[in-house]
Amino acid sequence: MNTILPYIKNKALTSEKVQNRVKELILELRVNKVLSAHHLLYILDHIDETSLEYLFKQASEAKQPFYGNNVYLRALIEISNYCNKGCFYCGISRHNNRVNRYRLTVEDILTSCDKAYELGYRTFVLQAGEDPRLTKETVVKLIQKIKQRHKDTRITLSLGEQDKATYQAWFDAGADRYLLRHETASKTLYKAIHSNDMSYENRRQCLYNLKAIGYQVGAGFMVGLPGQTNEHLVEDLIYLKQLNPHMVGIGPYLCHEDTKLKGNASGTLNETLVMLALVRLSLPKVLLPSTTALGTVDETGREQGLLAGANVFMPNVGPTEYKKDYEIYQNKICVTDTTETCYICVRGRISQYQHQVNFGVGDHVDIERMTSYDR
Ligand code: SAM
Repeated sequence: MNTILPYIKNKALTSEKVQNRVKELILELRVNKVLSAHHLLYILDHIDETSLEYLFKQASEAKQPFYGNNVYLRALIEISNYCNKGCFYCGISRHNNRVNRYRLTVEDILTSCDKAYELGYRTFVLQAGEDPRLTKETVVKLIQKIKQRHKDTRITLSLGEQDKATYQAWFDAGADRYLLRHETASKTLYKAIHSNDMSYENRRQCLYNLKAIGYQVGAGFMVGLPGQTNEHLVEDLIYLKQLNPHMVGIGPYLCHEDTKLKGNASGTLNETLVMLALVRLSLPKVLLPSTTALGTVDETGREQGLLAGANVFMPNVGPTEYKKDYEIYQNKICVTDTTETCYICVRGRISQYQHQVNFGVGDHVDIERMTSYDR
């Protein structure tokens, strides 16, 4: 079994010949947007500091024709941390009874949207644990209210696994996008980190249902999960290529001490940056967030994500007093920020790294070209 990205762990530089081969394969991926499992694995097993720079440069260039150096801002609102799911890595899973559970009121959510809209945000992301009180009807009403107030916006939902009729009702009410990370494409690893009542097949079926309904769909995975190998990460890359989602959320796994996976090592910055860059090369048009988890693992992690091919930031615009309780992992950054301070900070960070904030709705480039997408 290979360790993940061994160069990071042992810093053993491999020969020039090997590094030239790694660069050749990176270029092949850039040009053809696809690589065999065998060659993807070769990259992960052999990449070192020299080929890493090359990878990031290729990934940065690959987004240029579609998005330039634009960074799309999404206003994230964590609407509830109640959850009936048993993900062993997640700090708000049903197994953790130390969580201070909260659920925002409709008024709280609308006020958060209004504030974010005033600052220029044109996408609202409503995220929550799988809260049984967030019923089909409740969320339909919420979506309708937001869209009535702010017609020229997009709504992204991240409310977990639901039946197809529920996804359809939310889409019909005006939701545009849906984030549902597949978490890991390896069935064995999936089973090892989720409770028995959770289904690998169902999560994938949800992603296909969302696509069939017409959502812009986001899948994604964690990097550095306990037991995760380079082979597993190759499975993630191959699955994403097949699914061809509009968005991909990738972040380091960060260990939470009140979960079943307590005591494990967390994922690292470089491992995550490598996976971001490889996803950018295989899906050049994808919208790729530089996640808060990346900013948690390293002070400039999110900015480095932009240099490795990412093009989305998701600042939290919810009420400050609840941010600390949406603790999916520990030491999460920005939990004491207000909507305004977070916005100023994020804009500064983006411009320092030669990128610019884009205030459009930031649809996937193929959707933007479809004039019929005027909902
Ligand atoms: N319930 C929804 C769902 O299942 O998609 C959305 C909320 S869930 C908390 C959002 C994401 O947080 C998950 O898809 C997972 O990848 C990520 N996450 C949870 N625990 C994490 C951890 N310890 N480290 C890093 N990411 C984590």
